[in-house]
Amino acid sequence: MNVYDAGRMADALAPEGYREVSDVESADLVILNTCHIRERATEKVFSELGRLREMKDERAASARPLTLAVAGCVAQAEGAEIVRRQKAVDVVVGPQSYHRLPELLRQAHGRHAVDTDFPVEDKLDHIAAPSPAKIRSRGLSAFVTIQEGCDKFCTFCVVPYTRGAEVSRPPEKVLAEVETLVASGVREVTLLGQNVNAYHGVDGAGAAWSLARLVRQLDALPDLVRVRYTTSHPNDMADDLIAAHRDVPSLMPFLHLPVQSGSDRVLAAMNRKHRAADYRALVARVRAACPDIALSSDFIVGFPGETEADFQATLDLIAEITFASTFFFIYSPRAGTPGATLPDQVPDSVKRDRLARLQTLVESQRHGFNASAVGRTMPVLFEKLGRHPGQLVGKSPYLQPVHVEGPATLIGTVHDVAIESVEANSLFGRVLPRPPSATLERESLYETT
Ligand code: SAH
Ligand code: SF4
Repeated sequence: MNVYDAGRMADALAPEGYREVSDVESADLVILNTCHIRERATEKVFSELGRLREMKDERAASARPLTLAVAGCVAQAEGAEIVRRQKAVDVVVGPQSYHRLPELLRQAHGRHAVDTDFPVEDKLDHIAAPSPAKIRSRGLSAFVTIQEGCDKFCTFCVVPYTRGAEVSRPPEKVLAEVETLVASGVREVTLLGQNVNAYHGVDGAGAAWSLARLVRQLDALPDLVRVRYTTSHPNDMADDLIAAHRDVPSLMPFLHLPVQSGSDRVLAAMNRKHRAADYRALVARVRAACPDIALSSDFIVGFPGETEADFQATLDLIAEITFASTFFFIYSPRAGTPGATLPDQVPDSVKRDRLARLQTLVESQRHGFNASAVGRTMPVLFEKLGRHPGQLVGKSPYLQPVHVEGPATLIGTVHDVAIESVEANSLFGRVLPRPPSATLERESLYETT
C-alpha cells in the first residue's frame, strides 16, 4: 500500500509542478513514506533522516535548498515527535491526509507543518488521476486501494492505530479508477486493503458490495486480464469469494492468507479469533474450489508466551499446508499494543533460533514450488524486455518472473509458456503457439490489443 500511496502523493504534487526523479541528489523535496509495523522499520526512518539532514545542511546556502517530509505510518504514530527528534524535517503527514501535501509544503516555509488527522473527506477524492503517460510509465500491473484500516486489533499489531478504522471505498470509485488505468494500458490490478476481503463498499443505491462482487465486475472489463487482492484475514474468507476463485477467469489462483501461528494458544493470545483447525479447513475449501490455487502466508515467531511446543505446532501447520511463499517475522513489541506489555516475552536468542528453523522449512517449500513448475504450461503476462536481446520477462499466475525469447509485441498480452527450467526465483520457458481462441474460454479474455 505504501507503493500505491507514494504514487498518489506524486499525483497530488504533479499539479504543483513536481515530478519524480530517481536520485536524492537531484530532488528538491524528499518524502520518506514510512512503515511502523516493526521497530526496525521505524528505526530506519530516523537513521535515513540523519543522512538527509547532512544533505539538507550542505544545500542550505545554495540556490536549491532541500525540503524534507515524512509520510506514512511512522508519521501517523510519532507526529510532532519526529520534528522534535529531527529538526530538519519540514513536513509530517499521516497516511490519511497526504492529499494536503501541497498546502502543507506551502505552510512549511520557515516552520514545521504536521498533519496526522483522520479527515472525514476521502483523500483520494482530492487527488487528480495521473496522466495516461504517467500510468504507462508505472507499468502494466497496478495497485488500487479499495479498503483501508482495520477493526480487528490483533494484539501485536499497530495497524488499527496508524491506519484507523476499517473503511471501504465505494465500488463506483474503485471501478472508475481501474477503468482509467486499463484505458492507459494497465492489464493487471492488485486490490489492496489491510483487510481486503472484509471489503464492503456501499454503492450509490445503498447496496453493500462484497469483494467477490467487485472482482466479478472487474472480470467484465475485457482488457483487464488479471485481478489479485491482498491482504486477507482468514475469518473474512466468505463463500462468495471462494466461489469466485472457482469461476472468475481473471482472478489469479494465488492467495495470500496470513495465519501467523499454528498454535491455538498463541492464536488466542494474538486475538486472531480462529483456531489452527479452522485455517486448515478453510484452506481445504479453497483448494477444493480452485485446485490449482497456491497459498502464501505470514508468520510471527516469538510472540509472548510462545513455547517450543507452540512453535512446533507452527512448523507442523506449514509442513502440512505447504506454501508457495512465506513471509516470517520476529515478534517486535510495539508501544501501545496489548502484546507489548504481556508477560513471558521470548528472549531474542530463542526468537532467532526459531526464525532460522522456520526459514529452512519455508525455503525448501518455496524451492519445491518453483521446481514443480518445470514441465508445466502456464499463462504468462508479459511485462517488459529482459536483460538480454530478444528476451522478455513476464509473470506467472503465482507472481514468479518468467523469462522467454520472444518479440516485444507480446508485452501486455498473456500467452501460454512451457516452463523448461528454474533458476533461483525465476522460471525459463518457451512461448507456445496460441490454440484457436474459440476452444478456450479463458484464453479469449487474454486477446488484448
Ligand atoms: N492485515 C494483515 C497483516 C498486516 S501486517 C493480516 O491480518 O494478516 C503484515 C504482517 O506483519 C502481519 O501479517 C504480521 O505477520 C507482521 N507483523 C505485524 N505486526 C508485527 C509485529 N509487531 N511484530 C512482528 N511482525 C508483525
Ligand atoms: Fe493488524 Fe491484520 Fe490483525 Fe488488522 S487483522 S490488527 S492489520 S494483523
